[in-house]
Amino acid sequence: MKPIFAMILMLSVVLLNIITVQGSGVLWLVNKDNPLPADFHPVDLVEYRHVKLSQPAKDAFIKMLSAMESEGVTGLRLQSAYRTHEHQSTIFNRKVASLTAQGKAYEIAIEEASHTVQPPGASEHQLGLALDVSINGELSQKFADTPAGQWLEENCHRFGFIIRYPLTKTEITNIVYEPWHLRYIGIPHATILYEENLTLEEYHHYLSSIFMYIVWGDSDDYYLISYSDVFPDNLDVDAEVFETHPQSGYGYVIIQHKIQDTEI
Ligand SMILES: [Zn+2]
Repeated sequence: MKPIFAMILMLSVVLLNIITVQGSGVLWLVNKDNPLPADFHPVDLVEYRHVKLSQPAKDAFIKMLSAMESEGVTGLRLQSAYRTHEHQSTIFNRKVASLTAQGKAYEIAIEEASHTVQPPGASEHQLGLALDVSINGELSQKFADTPAGQWLEENCHRFGFIIRYPLTKTEITNIVYEPWHLRYIGIPHATILYEENLTLEEYHHYLSSIFMYIVWGDSDDYYLISYSDVFPDNLDVDAEVFETHPQSGYGYVIIQHKIQDTEI
């Protein structure tokens, strides 16, 4: 299915069935410009193997792994998932220290480090919705050329994940290509980003700055995705409402599932 990007249109449909799903945190844009507070902790962390991650990311990962293995692609390892703010600080400071040890000035080391390691607060790992995966324990761009890397590139959106820092979008994400870093954002959003080759930054921009509606699906069964600056209390039907930022005042993304009644 190809999503249709459209400016606001009047749509005449009969509303038959609107799904309701809680999505807190799932669509938050977290990066250097939109950091998480130091005291942010996900409320739905669960243990899985040797890591912790948010419940929806865990459920989706298990389904994805099972589909992958049933298609003959094996050996995917989950390297890491949730990280505390403090842990991210440690990783970032270690990277800065290794660059200053090479003789780089502190400010330059900070800037360079931030292209490969997110500074504390800017890491999606603090959300519990980001996963690093590998086949041999190494987080390497070579992973993209492995069967597992290729399978994820083509299929992870079917389970609600995106390759968050793609090869062709490093100027937008400001992060080097990381084929091993998956972010859970839910199936409709992930599929639209995959089909339209968008980053999460661009998706938020299109919805919130240009106020586009996105229609995704078939003409008689589709999702209408829109943005509102304020919590949409005027919805007369249930809808899936996503916060876009951990702090209030940043607007909401709304998904309405619409099915046209062809029998009327
Ligand atoms: Zn990662």
